[in-house]
Amino acid sequence: MSNKKDSDGTSADTRFEELERRTIEKFKNAFGRDPIFVVTAPGRVNLIGEHTDYNDGFVFPMAIDRNVIIAADWVRHEDHVPSDSARIYSSAKRQPALVKIQGDVLPAPKVDWSEYVQGVIVGYLKETPSVQAPPFVAMIHSSVPLGAALSSSAALEVAVATLIEALTKTSLDPVRKALICQKAEHDFAKMPCGIMDQFISAMGKKDCLMLLDCKSYETKLIPFTSDDLSILIVNSRVKHQLSGSEYPERRASCFDSANILGVPSLRFLSAEQLEAGKEKLTETQYRRCRHVVGEIQRTVEAAEAIQNGEFERLGRLMYESHDSLRDDYEVSCVELDILVDICREIGVAGGVYGSRMTGGGFGGCTVSLIQSDKKDSIMETIERKYQEKTGISPEMFVTRPAEGARILQQEE
Ligand code: ADP
Ligand code: MG
Repeated sequence: MSNKKDSDGTSADTRFEELERRTIEKFKNAFGRDPIFVVTAPGRVNLIGEHTDYNDGFVFPMAIDRNVIIAADWVRHEDHVPSDSARIYSSAKRQPALVKIQGDVLPAPKVDWSEYVQGVIVGYLKETPSVQAPPFVAMIHSSVPLGAALSSSAALEVAVATLIEALTKTSLDPVRKALICQKAEHDFAKMPCGIMDQFISAMGKKDCLMLLDCKSYETKLIPFTSDDLSILIVNSRVKHQLSGSEYPERRASCFDSANILGVPSLRFLSAEQLEAGKEKLTETQYRRCRHVVGEIQRTVEAAEAIQNGEFERLGRLMYESHDSLRDDYEVSCVELDILVDICREIGVAGGVYGSRMTGGGFGGCTVSLIQSDKKDSIMETIERKYQEKTGISPEMFVTRPAEGARILQQEE
């Protein structure tokens, strides 16, 4: 099913093979030999359940067929890599990273891409101190756009974690693996993210969405197999740099409100309790809470709707989620609103069930649930209207739920 042709005429499998081939070629160009290890981890899109993960709520993501691939080998004399280090190139970055694979390493003051890699390695050193990775060299190549809300950062972290497992011939429980990656993002990339991105990248399953309970870490795979349905991702190609503190601020506001209302987290706040406690909150805190409480409810309902084949209901929930993120949580932006409004105009008759911004906000992508047979005309309309209104040509692709992280090649 994932072998369906995309709008550019290539299937997901063909595209993946091409990415793998090019990663290996880049490794050969850099190091003059074939890699022994090849691993991969996917990016993700969240169908619904935004800014609910750090509130112990539900999220409903899937892995997409955009991946980070890493090719690697043990260090050889001619690589000139210190014996306590690994040298890693990324096709997306000019400077290679030299990361420590032994001893105590503290996060650097400045977040460079190597911090994502170093953070994961430090997590593994702490979690499995008896298992040491010998020095290695690696090449990273990725089809997950950076900073577009499809979680290139989690894909990178989980791919590095998978590489460490391949190199050390160990396999961590996937929950612990995801938590190590999350901690790397917190401590080394200084981004206090929830657990969704690393979970789905590590544990995504082909043709399934994942309803994830961020409190208990329980996961429920919900089949998404109908050929008639597709997920359309549209990259607005804007990333508004606000103060940079919006995410931690939203998070802190939620924690403060939970405290004021006497619940352990907003997961445990009902809509009635919120109304009853409204006077204790500022107007802004109240609206932030209203988004989270409503969004957790919508996410649970969305999983139910998809299981019942109620796609119009699912679509309505997606639009409601977008409106709430725009008005109450205030993390949307003009371009994302325009993309969602274009989908509303196309409507179910034109093949769109629902659409919303996805990811943290202020730019990045929208996710839409569409009828597969109308995807060409839908994409043509979005391209034309978004261009007209913003002067920007959006990047678009259709995807189906893809497989999570895995080892593609390793030592015999
Ligand atoms: P998102 O996760 O939504 O794509 P983030 O800002 O969280 O956006 O993560 C993007 C950062 O992750 C990049 O700036 C870079 O530091 C790192 N990163 C992601 N993919 C790669 C890659 N292929 N090579 C090097 N660094 C990467
Ligand atoms: Mg990220």
